[in-house]
Amino acid sequence: MECFTAGLISLDEAQRKMLADISPVRDVETIAITAAAGRITAEEVTSPIAVPPFTNSAMDGYAVRLADLAQGTALPIAGKAFAGAPFTGQWPPGSCVRIMTGAPVPAGADAVIMQEQTESGDHGIRPTAAVKAGQNIRLAGEDIQQGACVLSAGVKLGVAELPLLASLGISHITVLRKLRVAIFSTGDELQSVGQPLSAGQIYDTNRFAVHLMLDKLGCEVIDLGIIRDDPQALRAAFTAADSTADVVISSGGVSVGEADYTKTQLEEQGNITFWKLAIKPGKPFAFGRLQHSWFCGLPGNPVSAVVTFYQLVQPLLAKLTGQKTDCLPMRQRARTVQRLRKTPGRLDFQRGIVNRNAEGELEVHSTGHQGSHVFSSFSLANCFIVLERERGTVEVGEWVEIEPFNALLGG
Ligand code: AMP
Ligand code: MG
Repeated sequence: MECFTAGLISLDEAQRKMLADISPVRDVETIAITAAAGRITAEEVTSPIAVPPFTNSAMDGYAVRLADLAQGTALPIAGKAFAGAPFTGQWPPGSCVRIMTGAPVPAGADAVIMQEQTESGDHGIRPTAAVKAGQNIRLAGEDIQQGACVLSAGVKLGVAELPLLASLGISHITVLRKLRVAIFSTGDELQSVGQPLSAGQIYDTNRFAVHLMLDKLGCEVIDLGIIRDDPQALRAAFTAADSTADVVISSGGVSVGEADYTKTQLEEQGNITFWKLAIKPGKPFAFGRLQHSWFCGLPGNPVSAVVTFYQLVQPLLAKLTGQKTDCLPMRQRARTVQRLRKTPGRLDFQRGIVNRNAEGELEVHSTGHQGSHVFSSFSLANCFIVLERERGTVEVGEWVEIEPFNALLGG
């Protein structure tokens, strides 16, 4: 076993090396918030207004002054306040104002009594429960003060952020430019989807998978197609990709076969940082630097290509796009209800199905055949089962770590 795993670097070390010298894109653009989903804030965003902008009622009920309640007499209704139509009349002592949720609270009111805690008679309303100062009143600025920071730089804009900007009346936002990523597949056996297959050919799965994942990550994709297993063709592809992109991602040709030229080409046209990982699937993964861009050489087997993209390229791209929070996948513990075959030596990313059992515990089982060419294992799975490098076969009932798929794989 040792001889096969010697010289392989661990996933942690690979992630560290990849993130070590990276500086994010700097160019910015200002765009409408309606077009900003998935983009990264370039600067801190402050609120132009207070939220709520005015003190308003949290309930349908009656605005009162506490002093007017002291006698215990009924309070006649002096007028009404609606959301969008404030009370503008005179408010005589000893009376109340009928008020709806979201309506401005009239000046001088100490509390809003919810409708359900009042009784009404001929002479007005009376509270049926104790009334506390400030109850059911939302104060101006209690959520956000005018000028307060609402988003810092390096935040990915999504459902939690964009409606917040809309609520502040911010229609445009300054974001970092999109990352440009050039992709190509290598292999004489590859054919593009839509073309007939000749003898010995297979369809190019990886470029399609990588393109999809890059779309989801909000990158601008430059698709250079399929490159033949020919050093000259590969050299030209490397040059074209490096001249236009921030990151170049290829697949195939990083192993030790006689038609595996990717690694040699990386060494010729740039610098290789590492190219062999102690993970399964995904051992042959090359990372390095070209003249203008970073280079990731994914393995040829489609499952390996997606696993290495997910575990290594995804955090790299997140950092390059300027995202401040790292997006290393979260792990949880689950009990396996199945024997999981494994050989010690590499960190395993088996595809699994996790669910909660009747006792509320997480239980996981395998999707079946774990070959690195069995792409259907992804569509059956909802998580990776992550088995430690030195662990052997896992027996039924043992605890394992799982990583639920994030949005990149989870739909
Ligand atoms: P390689 O790393 O180039 O030796 O490829 C390893 C295995 O993955 C071979 O069986 C290839 O046919 C297959 N493969 C390589 N690239 C792709 C691709 N883009 N789509 C599907 N299978 C591929
Ligand atoms: Mg190949």
